[in-house]
Amino acid sequence: MLREGDDLSWFARKAAASSGAVPGAAPEPARVRRLTELLERLRAAGVKGDAASMTLFTRRLPPGCRPCLKGDGSNFYVTGLCTRDCFFCFNQKPRKDELVAHGLPVETPEEAAAVVERFGLRSVGLSGGEPLLKLDRVLAILRALRALPRPPRVDLYTNGDRADAATLRALKAAGLHSIRFDAVARDFDLAPAAVARAIFDEVAVEIPVIPEQMGKLKTMMLELERLRVPYLNIHELFLCAENRERSEARGERAREGGESRHLLWRPAARSLESCLELLLFGLEACPTLSVYLCSCGTQESIARRGWLKRRRRDGAPQAAAA
Ligand code: SF4
Repeated sequence: MLREGDDLSWFARKAAASSGAVPGAAPEPARVRRLTELLERLRAAGVKGDAASMTLFTRRLPPGCRPCLKGDGSNFYVTGLCTRDCFFCFNQKPRKDELVAHGLPVETPEEAAAVVERFGLRSVGLSGGEPLLKLDRVLAILRALRALPRPPRVDLYTNGDRADAATLRALKAAGLHSIRFDAVARDFDLAPAAVARAIFDEVAVEIPVIPEQMGKLKTMMLELERLRVPYLNIHELFLCAENRERSEARGERAREGGESRHLLWRPAARSLESCLELLLFGLEACPTLSVYLCSCGTQESIARRGWLKRRRRDGAPQAAAA
């Protein structure tokens, strides 16, 4: 929570330094001023969360994000195959149809569920590629997870291309808790989210924030409010080995690697300001939609927390995490 006495320019300088355009350079004063001004307006409007890692939200945290923030969540990569070819996609190319659970390649849904048991995970995100290209695999995973002594919560990430009503009902019946749509992959078509809203209580849209799309993003937020979609999760556009060339061809720039011990990607130079603007718009114009910024700083702290847990569990020294 941002409080009255907080030095907002400190948070702004920290954020600007970690997502600057030039490695090692002092943050640009104009950028620090802009970030400080946005943080001041967000504080006045009642934003919640942690500004040191830029983990901020407008009303409520999505339930699926809580275990993840504690380092108790993980991801199953259901398949690398997809129906789209987004320029910002960070999946490995050429695309491969494989199942990976918590970073470990596995052969069957039951093996994937056993990984959850072994690591004591409390939430799982099913992603891809487009996981609904492999609906039978997704349903088998849901059944295997539900059969565990302590079943985790499960969220599914999809671009919506295969999310018809019958599929959504089958997912709900198999135990899926919530579904998250990447509306940017479908050029802001919210039809699948509208269908899902009639089937799931918990529906979210989760997207990268591309600074050039601010107009479309705000229009989308008003539409989400009208549809009573409860959650919008935003993250900074980031560049990695798999999307750098296409992102740079569109004029995006990232700080070069080396600063993060835990992430293989860097945020695009100007995406954070756009994320803060959207949080502000959410507070001012969307009374029921909750907007959550899962920034590169958030992901860094989640990755660090997970790394520390693994070190503790394996009994290895922890000094390197400092
Ligand atoms: S929809 Fe998702 S997985 Fe598919 S290309 Fe776009 S970003 Fe990649």
